[in-house]
Amino acid sequence: MALNGKTALITGSTSGIGLAIAQGFAQQGINIILNGFGDPQEIEDIRKSLEINGNKITYSNADMTKPDEIVNMIQSAEQKFGAIDILVNNAGIQHVSPIEDFPPEKWDAIMAINLSSAFHTTRAAIGGMRKAGWGRIINMCSAHGLVASPYKAAYVAAKHGILGLTKTIALEVAQDNITCNAICPGYVRTPLVENQIADTAKARGISEEEVIRDVLLTAQWTKKFVTVEQISGIALFLCSDSAENITGIDLRVDGGWTAA
Ligand code: NAD
Repeated sequence: MALNGKTALITGSTSGIGLAIAQGFAQQGINIILNGFGDPQEIEDIRKSLEINGNKITYSNADMTKPDEIVNMIQSAEQKFGAIDILVNNAGIQHVSPIEDFPPEKWDAIMAINLSSAFHTTRAAIGGMRKAGWGRIINMCSAHGLVASPYKAAYVAAKHGILGLTKTIALEVAQDNITCNAICPGYVRTPLVENQIADTAKARGISEEEVIRDVLLTAQWTKKFVTVEQISGIALFLCSDSAENITGIDLRVDGGWTAA
């Protein structure tokens, strides 16, 4: 199935992993609905830069903590493009803190953005995919969907949750030519991780260099960060015909972290 002319909605695609996935998809001529926060002019520049192969790129500023905005985003995308063929639930935030100091509002925000938004997008987009007779849902999980680290209660809980959602949806749509999978990256050096390096240094009382060496890359046996381009390539693979029978999995891209 050619991907050219298909339409993808990628939440949190103004930065980091989501942006790299958008760039990879744009190369294939896929129409894209970008989403996420940032400087309006920078987002407009990104939008224009992705219209490279006769594809159309639009942008929605829907806030992933707001179910109404999510439903509106899906409906207007369907009005413009027909179905959303590829849904990438990627928006995410992090907060690092010992449990006794963990702000309840951060817990709520992480649950809403990293977990519940994927429920709301999938719920709203699945009817269109069924009607189109083809679909791919990719949930951006994490090695933290499989194992824990201290001080990340909300993130680890949300990422474990999204794996459960992934498996459930995979079964529900298995006979509709729709797959649903989770990608579980180890550490990727995006703005989300840059902020974490500083926060972890504070929480553990160590330097940022020590955080990279002794916390982040300790778990990654390759001693290398995963790159955004690698995740983008894997997302494209999951959309390919070769991946038609891959559904309900956690695809680990973690340099051996969860093998240990
Ligand atoms: P990032 O900070 O570079 O990008 C996050 C994106 O989410 C941005 O576009 C941001 O605007 C958007 N976003 C945040 N809050 C939003 C909201 N309320 N509504 C809409 N959009 C919102 O982070 P990243 O590292 O590219 O992370 C992307 C995904 O990958 C996240 O789900 C993250 O948990 C996951 N992940 C990242 C790593 C890593 O090491 N960077 C590892 C594993 C998993």
